[in-house]
Amino acid sequence: MKQATIIGAGLVGSLWAVYLAKEGYKVNVYERRPDMRKANISAGKSINLATSYRGWKALDAVGIGDEIRKIAIPMYGRTMHPLKGDTNYQPYGINDQAIYSVSRGEINAKLMDLSEQNPHVKIFFNEECVNVDLEKGTSYFKNTQTGALSEVTADVVFATDGAFSAARYNAMQKLDRFSYSQNYIEDGYREILLPANADGSYKLEKNTLHIWPRGRFMLIALPNFDGSFTCTLFMPFDGHEHCFNKLTSRDKVENFFKEVFPDFFAMMPNVADAWEDHPLSSLAIIRCYPWYHGKVMLMGDAAHATVPFFGQGMNCGFEDCTVMWELMKKYNEDWKKIGEEYQVLRKPNGDAVQDLSVNNYLVMRNKVADPEFLLLQKIERRFSELYPDSYFPLYTMVSFTDIEYKTALEKGNSQENTIRELIKKHSINSDTEMHKIDEIIHQHMKQNVLIS
Ligand SMILES: Cc1cc2nc3c(=O)[nH]c(=O)nc-3n(C[C@H](O)[C@H](O)[C@H](O)COP(=O)(O)OP(=O)(O)OC[C@H]3O[C@@H](n4cnc5c(N)ncnc54)[C@H](O)[C@@H]3O)c2cc1C
Repeated sequence: MKQATIIGAGLVGSLWAVYLAKEGYKVNVYERRPDMRKANISAGKSINLATSYRGWKALDAVGIGDEIRKIAIPMYGRTMHPLKGDTNYQPYGINDQAIYSVSRGEINAKLMDLSEQNPHVKIFFNEECVNVDLEKGTSYFKNTQTGALSEVTADVVFATDGAFSAARYNAMQKLDRFSYSQNYIEDGYREILLPANADGSYKLEKNTLHIWPRGRFMLIALPNFDGSFTCTLFMPFDGHEHCFNKLTSRDKVENFFKEVFPDFFAMMPNVADAWEDHPLSSLAIIRCYPWYHGKVMLMGDAAHATVPFFGQGMNCGFEDCTVMWELMKKYNEDWKKIGEEYQVLRKPNGDAVQDLSVNNYLVMRNKVADPEFLLLQKIERRFSELYPDSYFPLYTMVSFTDIEYKTALEKGNSQENTIRELIKKHSINSDTEMHKIDEIIHQHMKQNVLIS
C-alpha cells in the first residue's frame, strides 16, 4: 500500500489526511501537541475562523462539508459600530451569501475524527518533527513526553506544520536557492470573550461579523453557539496614541474601552478583568519558494502564512488540498509532476492572498467607516445587482467563488479604479439618485469595459 506522511494535524493536515486515505494511501500523521480531543488544551491562535466558499468546496469534495456545517454559524454581513451614532450594516454579498464562524478547536477536532474514520489514517500525538530528508522522504521525530527519537520513510511527505514549519526550517531552508522571508506587521492581537446574557441569549445580533473600526486599530466579534462572541482587538504594539504597550494597568484598559468602544464597554463593563485571559500575539507574513523538493511538499501556512484580515488563511490552505487532489488525478500520482505543477499554480495565489489580506486590514479598520469608500461599495454592489453574472466585487470573488486569488486581486484593483473614475466623471455623491447611478452603470456595461 502507498504510504504518506503528514507532519502536523492542524486544519490542513487533518483535512489532507481525509483526501489521501480516500485515494488509497496509508496515512501517518504526526502532531507535536497532545490530542486536543482528550487534553484540555486550546487549539492555539484565534478561537474563531471564518469559513468561506473555497473552504466549503474543499470539505464538500470529500463529503464532509455537512458535518462541519453543523458547527458553523452564518454571518451575512458586517455590522459597523461607529464611535458615535447608529450601527451600519453592510451585506457581504447578494442572495444571502454568507461566511461562517467556526471554532478553531471544534473544526480541528472534527477533522481529526473524520480522518480517523478511515482505518488507514493514524494520528500520532506528542511527536515533534525535527528534520526531514527531502530526497528519501524520511521524517525524524522526537516524542515531546519521552524524548524518544523515531523516523519514518514514506512515498511522499506533506509538511502541514504551520507558519513556523520545522520541515521547512530544518530541511527546505538548507537548500541552495530556497527563498524565504518573514515579516511581522506593526500590529498584534488579543482576544476577549464577550459572554452571553444570563439567559443564554446573544448580546449582539448573531448572524453578522461586528466591527468597531477606529482608523489605526479595530475590534471585531464573531458569534459562538453558546451565545458568546469571540472578540479580537487588532492594534499596534507601540508608537501610536492607542497601542498595546500603553495598556499596562487594569485602569488603563478600562479607560481605553470606555473612550474608544463605549457601546462595547456598556455590554462588558468588566472587560479589564478579562484582559489577561488570552495572550497578546503577533502577526507575520511568511513567503518562501520552492514548495516542493524531492518527496516533500509544503501546504497551508507552512507555504504561505498570512495575516488574518481577509479570513482566508485556512480557506487558502484547504484550497491547496483541492488543487493537489486535482493534480493527483491529472498525473496519476506521479508526485514529481504533481509537485512541480502544484507550486507553479499555487505560489502566485499564495502571494496574492497575502497582499489581499494586508489590503483588507485597511478596509476593515478604516475604510468601512469612510463615506467615500461606502459610496464606492454602494456603486459596486449595484453593479453586481444589475449584472450578477458578469460583475463580481472583490470581496465576492475572494469569499464566494474560487476565482484564483491572483486574478481576484488584479480584477478587484482594476474595478475599483474604474468606479473611482465613474464617480469623478459623473460627479456621483451620496445624494445621487439610484436611477441615475443605474443609467451610468448600464451605459458603462454597454461599452463592455467592466464585463469580466
Ligand atoms: C488571529 C487569526 C485569525 C484567523 N482567522 C482566520 C479566518 O477567519 N479564516 C481563515 O480562513 N483563516 C484564518 N486564520 C488563518 C488560519 O488560522 C491558518 O491559515 C490555518 O490555521 C492554517 O492551517 P495549517 O494547518 O496550515 O496550520 P496550523 O493550523 O497552524 O496547524 C499546524 C499544526 O502543525 C503542528 N506542528 C507545528 N510544528 C510541528 C512539528 N515540528 N511537528 C509536528 N507537528 C507540528 C501544530 O501543533 C499544528 O497542529 C487566522 C489566523 C489568525 C492568527
